[in-house]
Amino acid sequence: MACCDLSPPWVRAIAPYLPGKPISELARELGLAEADIVKLASNENPLGPSPRALAAAQDALHDMALYPDGAGFALKAKLAAKFGVDAKQIVLGNGSNDVLDMVARAFLAPGTSSVFSQHAFAVYPIATQTVGASGITVPARDYGHDLAAMRAAIRDDTRVLWIANPNNPTGTFLPWAEIEAFLETLPPQVLVVLDEAYGEYLPTDDRGDTLAWIERFPNLLVVRTFSKAYGLAGLRVGYGFGHSDVIDLLNRVRHPFNVNAPALVAAEAALDDIEFLLRSYALNSAGMAQLVAGLKALKVEVVPSKGNFLLAKVGDAARINQVLLEQGVIVRPVANYGLPEFLRVSVGLAGQNARFLEALKACL
Ligand SMILES: *Cc1c(COP(=O)(O)O)cnc(C)c1O
Repeated sequence: MACCDLSPPWVRAIAPYLPGKPISELARELGLAEADIVKLASNENPLGPSPRALAAAQDALHDMALYPDGAGFALKAKLAAKFGVDAKQIVLGNGSNDVLDMVARAFLAPGTSSVFSQHAFAVYPIATQTVGASGITVPARDYGHDLAAMRAAIRDDTRVLWIANPNNPTGTFLPWAEIEAFLETLPPQVLVVLDEAYGEYLPTDDRGDTLAWIERFPNLLVVRTFSKAYGLAGLRVGYGFGHSDVIDLLNRVRHPFNVNAPALVAAEAALDDIEFLLRSYALNSAGMAQLVAGLKALKVEVVPSKGNFLLAKVGDAARINQVLLEQGVIVRPVANYGLPEFLRVSVGLAGQNARFLEALKACL
């Protein structure tokens, strides 16, 4: 029997993660210059990185023959000071996806289950399935998490429950008070992963003090990333805050040196560049308003979003996506999330948003 046939059945059944189409790939296919292509497909920061993060990463390249600090001491110290937690309550990841994967490897196994919402981030089912646990998908309510239904879906063998707030790809958001009340009802053996990848894009009134919950809920892990508002998606740095016992378990399955040296120092510099974060937030608010108004003018329904992207209900999304690609515009089809009538569009620069709206108008 061939080795691949003996791979565990749960591994062979994984539907691989579908990333946004790279600009270079579409340029090759269409014979277009990369500069003529607009990519609004991966929720990346259209401003690029903070100049301070870029300078720090460039500097670190000189030492690339050396292993990075496997414990990430300096970045953890900075995060601890900024967010008022202990360094023992922080885990670093090669992107926050790495942290999500560590959760699965540390807390799940065959014979256990994890709970997530329909239309939630694709990495939750993938991480669950990778380790042979069962994924329990809870039907969404208004495209977002139905907490009561998620609570009811918890079984005796459930060890992890995933919540993205705001959620990707739907942009839906639950008030923090609802999540806090939900946490109060959970059994202690269920680890709740609160994925705040888009937290920096929330308006001030919607911000929550979720780190204050770490002490109260030893079964809570808050996960954040430098990939979105901080503009470091290509460097891969994410982090999680939780009880030191949870962090200790995650560190046992963490790959040594999982965060590379340029990424560590760029993340530190990015944390200090408050001005860049504010600029990213302001650009996103304006761009979101532009997209919402533009889509409304085209009579395209949208799902209200608190992230740096939104779902547009275009009907035959596969066809419209193809016509957009032919015009050099890359957005994200989300049929694999059970949303075949929608395209997910990331908020770009004003000119990029306008290019998308024009291209969409041409294919409706
Ligand atoms: C983008 C995103 C992440 C971040 O992924 P990284 O690995 O940090 O780049 C995590 N969760 C959700 C819901 C996301 O959309």
